[in-house]
Amino acid sequence: LAYYLDKIREQPELNAFNEVFVSSATEQAVAVQEKINAGKAGRLAGMVIGIKDNILYKDHQTTASSKMLDGFIAPYSSTVVSRLLAEDAVIIGRLNCDEFAMGGSNETSFFGPVRNAADNQRVAGGSSGGSAVAVQADLCLAALGTDTGGSVRQPAAFCGCFGLKPTYGRISRYGVIAYASSFDQVGTLTSSVSDAALLMEILAGADAYDSTVSAKSVPVYSEELNSPGKQRIAVLKETMESEALDPETKHAILQAIAGFRAAGHQVDEVSFDLLDYLVPAYYVLTAAEASSNLSRYDGVHYGYRNLQAENLNSLYKKSRAEGFGTEVKRRIMLGTFVLSAGYYDAYYQKAQQVRRLIRERVEALFTNYDLILTPVAPTPAFKIGENMQDPLVMYMADIFTVLPSLSGIPSIAVPLGNNQAGLPLSLQLSAKHFNEGLLLAFTAGFK
Ligand code: GLN
Repeated sequence: LAYYLDKIREQPELNAFNEVFVSSATEQAVAVQEKINAGKAGRLAGMVIGIKDNILYKDHQTTASSKMLDGFIAPYSSTVVSRLLAEDAVIIGRLNCDEFAMGGSNETSFFGPVRNAADNQRVAGGSSGGSAVAVQADLCLAALGTDTGGSVRQPAAFCGCFGLKPTYGRISRYGVIAYASSFDQVGTLTSSVSDAALLMEILAGADAYDSTVSAKSVPVYSEELNSPGKQRIAVLKETMESEALDPETKHAILQAIAGFRAAGHQVDEVSFDLLDYLVPAYYVLTAAEASSNLSRYDGVHYGYRNLQAENLNSLYKKSRAEGFGTEVKRRIMLGTFVLSAGYYDAYYQKAQQVRRLIRERVEALFTNYDLILTPVAPTPAFKIGENMQDPLVMYMADIFTVLPSLSGIPSIAVPLGNNQAGLPLSLQLSAKHFNEGLLLAFTAGFK
């Protein structure tokens, strides 16, 4: 713990932590040491873990990097935090992220952008940017993030770590601040596959507090990391031919593919012609869910309140106008619009139908293939400020990560080394529902 606390102190410019839990982490570390001495330590004994600032930890502040939750203290712990603590992990602090996890660069945070440790002028990615940089810069051993449309995988890719988004329903969302509930999943950011496997074993599985979690038994992932045998891999052709794809990223992925072929895996180019529909369907659906989820921040129940309001209506209006940032407001308005009478059928319902079609098409691919391969993002980490003027540019960069999110399948960002400029490159592998064991084993065999 002292090692990581020093590291954090040495690199304040990264802005990865919204708060370091010095006293509770120190107490926990002492308690764990006693358990270790007594030979009674849990499976994560002493593992120092950071959590994204939208995951509740009892008696600690949680803000989702929003002014709206200023001063909000979690009255209970999320299931994921309880499970980490039950296995004697040490939670070192809460990590910066995009406001309410809405963004892909960590620039919508009320607390400012996180800086990529590979190049301080560049973004960390988002929304779990603090989680990615904390692992990249060795500020903790591993971190939890949340992934609605890429928020674990894309920052992991920008920072050269492994980012796993499990199957929708694999991990409890109890005590995780909701963005789009039919997409949100907690995921892991780690510097090794074995850390991801161990964390998954502990985090996954049924929870009486979240009825959307599957009751399926949880494999002992960390003991199944040996070679999974020959796999059939579908490379989605249109994603590799996309004009937006950076040449060095493409080259690194093609080299990895050559390596898979040489190792005896079957790799085929497969056409996926629904690419143009992914980003529109994702943003209509997630904005709709967000507008509903964020209606609870009314200036009365949580966090920020405008104290000059004269009546209830102006309390709502002023608190929400002042508490939420621009991107969050944009999505609340978009979501309210697509759900409103007269537009519901044309936008929300249509997007639901498109989601169903995408999911069916993806499931059909798995009759002939075990893994789907695409890039994670079209480019490596971009410059801070570069994409902030135009929300559509930012949204389009989510094109590859939203495919697994719309289909609910597990997906992992795998580091591929750095480009000429020293920026991390990455590829994305996805598998059938509840097949994160294969993703982990395949990735372990390749790295
Ligand atoms: N960039 C995407 C968005 O802004 C993904 C965010 C996420 O996964 N939380 O919605």
